[in-house]
Amino acid sequence: MPYSLQYDISGLLILIVIISLFYFKRTLPSYPNRTFALLVITIFLSVFFNLIRYAVFSYFSLSPSFALWFYGLHLLLISIVPVPFVLYICALTNTLDFLSRSKLRFLLLAPLLINIILTAVSFKYPLIFTVDENNVYIRLPQVYIIYFFMFCYLAAGFVILIKNRRSVPKMSVHIIFLFSVTSFISSLFQMYFPDSSMHSLIISLNVLIVSLTVQKSEDTSDAITGLYNQTAFEAMNFKRFVGGEKFHILGIVFDDLPFLTSTLGMRHIHELLKQSSAFLKNTLKNVDVYHFNDGKFCIAFRNNDLEAVYECIDAIKERFVHPWKLNSIEVKIFPRISIISCPKDADSTETVIELFELLSSDDKYKQEGVILASSMDTAIRKRSAYIDRTVKNAISEGLLDVFYQPIYCTKQKRIIGAEALIRMKDERGKYISPEEFIPIAEKNGTILRLGEFVFEKVCRLLSEIKPEDFGIQKIDINLSVVQCMQETLADQILNIASLYRIPSSLLNLEITETAAAYSQDTLKSNMNKLSVAGIELSLDDYGSGYSNIGYMINLPFDMIKIDKSIVWNAFLDDKSYTALAFTISMINALKMTVLAEGIETKEQADSLTSLGCHFLQGYYFSEPLPKDVFLQLLHHQNIELKAQGLIFEKGAKPAEEMNHIKKPSFTGTGYGSLAGIEELEELDSIEEADA
Ligand code: C2E
Ligand code: CA
Ligand code: CA
Repeated sequence: MPYSLQYDISGLLILIVIISLFYFKRTLPSYPNRTFALLVITIFLSVFFNLIRYAVFSYFSLSPSFALWFYGLHLLLISIVPVPFVLYICALTNTLDFLSRSKLRFLLLAPLLINIILTAVSFKYPLIFTVDENNVYIRLPQVYIIYFFMFCYLAAGFVILIKNRRSVPKMSVHIIFLFSVTSFISSLFQMYFPDSSMHSLIISLNVLIVSLTVQKSEDTSDAITGLYNQTAFEAMNFKRFVGGEKFHILGIVFDDLPFLTSTLGMRHIHELLKQSSAFLKNTLKNVDVYHFNDGKFCIAFRNNDLEAVYECIDAIKERFVHPWKLNSIEVKIFPRISIISCPKDADSTETVIELFELLSSDDKYKQEGVILASSMDTAIRKRSAYIDRTVKNAISEGLLDVFYQPIYCTKQKRIIGAEALIRMKDERGKYISPEEFIPIAEKNGTILRLGEFVFEKVCRLLSEIKPEDFGIQKIDINLSVVQCMQETLADQILNIASLYRIPSSLLNLEITETAAAYSQDTLKSNMNKLSVAGIELSLDDYGSGYSNIGYMINLPFDMIKIDKSIVWNAFLDDKSYTALAFTISMINALKMTVLAEGIETKEQADSLTSLGCHFLQGYYFSEPLPKDVFLQLLHHQNIELKAQGLIFEKGAKPAEEMNHIKKPSFTGTGYGSLAGIEELEELDSIEEADA
């Protein structure tokens, strides 16, 4: 088969495209990438020399010894190509280590050595090839030794791939498999038709396919900054963690980035991230800079030199003293910086990410200078581990209880129900805040059992008393995001309620916006079932997050609970007050009821009543109370109402003034002592004596 220039030229062009892609895309210096680069370069050289040997020798008459060199080099390159191919497969299948340690390394290199010797000898004596007086290339029969070894390499790569196929994505296995088969066929072809250059084109196309599929599957650069991302961090540092290497990492978190995003807009924040990443990349030497997400930068040092770390910190601090110019505006950014010494502070990527989360979420690290991860993690991480253990054993060890925070109706001017709030004691009897243990319970899965516990407790209470005797019209129960994601949620709730024979109208379930955001379809079908069954549904913490009005409109909510932060802000500045006033009238216009949380003063209670809130909840009325104290509070309310001639009955007239009721003076946040009970009992005995 005659030589055809087009094949070699097309092959070369394809290879140039691949090499450029490799160069311009931020490619990780990982083993698969490095071995792939080696493979592409050797193929490029072999095609290039093939082109040269024909092109040059067809047009110029060169000395036989020069021609000999060209042919020799070309043959040598052909015989080398399968070696990076095997290395690439080993890198993909994570077997490089094994290869470098075992005697296999010798086995891998021996054929290559033989090829080199055979070729080198042929320069002097006609051993595997030679040229005649017209510079025509003549292959001698021994040349098949070279091809034999090539096939051995291909077979070895093939076997390694099949044996370790589970460590490589299925698609990659299929593609490399095809690569091996087509390369084998095309090498056979080349062996029989040494003048044909089709082999060059086939191999180049194969490499192109691998580079667009197998190589592309790892997405390691951050779209905004162009820096390496978290996946790249994992890939590049995995071996260091496993090997217990000592090195330092700097964690940098931009303070208030979510706030800045909402005020400055995404465009400016992207500009900020671009500028700051360019600064970090260009200024800091001997480090790898990563952008995990949302202004969380990670700088990994290549050695264990603490002095270099502090030099970097100085450079960063010096830059961040000055504002950043973003298009037309200037902003000053406060970075939180932490030094993580590996493996002491973090021995895996997950721990590094955990430390980042701590650094960004805990406001005590705000503008604190430089934080040593060792000081940061011990307290908080130990606490999380402790709570994780406690919450797992809480039900079996009887550490849980449910408290009730009274809800006041502005129209009836009295308490008509309560929000059930979970309480958990630690082993020393101290209460742990649900704000602290609920997120942990959500992570470790116990939240489903906790949710069931609260629901059963409420149902039991309602089945043990006659709610109307106490003036209870409803009890609110919180649902966690995780509960809302369960397809069986509605059925479970309705089952338990019917088991205790609780009328649905006595129950109100509080759902947060986050739950709606996470699993809208599941949530919607659960909500529809519950709503049809007559259970009231509230949107909890309205105003604390994004306040997506879509959820309010599209999901069957009966009540909106305005978050306490919104209430408190309204009494600090006029604009927030106006916003709150409009929010309440909007909810009213949408024909839903409104409850305002966090009412702590008479002024707040009066204002919110006049703004049109149907229900109020907060420390002004009462803190969350243990069940008995709550029932006694309602009992006293009834006595007050009776005394005013406004005995609670169906259709009773509203009481004049709620504050006339003798409130049990239960103190603390509900996590504190139960002193209130004794006071109430005292109150009862005084009343009995009066009677
Ligand atoms: P939440 O649903 O917003 O509950 C209201 C929280 O505000 C309660 O905190 C309550 O004690 C507090 N609070 C009420 N009025 C005032 C006030 O006037 N001033 C102040 N400073 N605070 C007030 P708590 O009981 O610590 O609960 C915190 C959060 O934990 C709850 O926020 C809720 O998200 C979650 N939680 C509590 N119990 C449960 C439960 O049974 N299940 C689930 N999934 N979450 C629960
Ligand atoms: Ca709530
Ligand atoms: Ca709330």
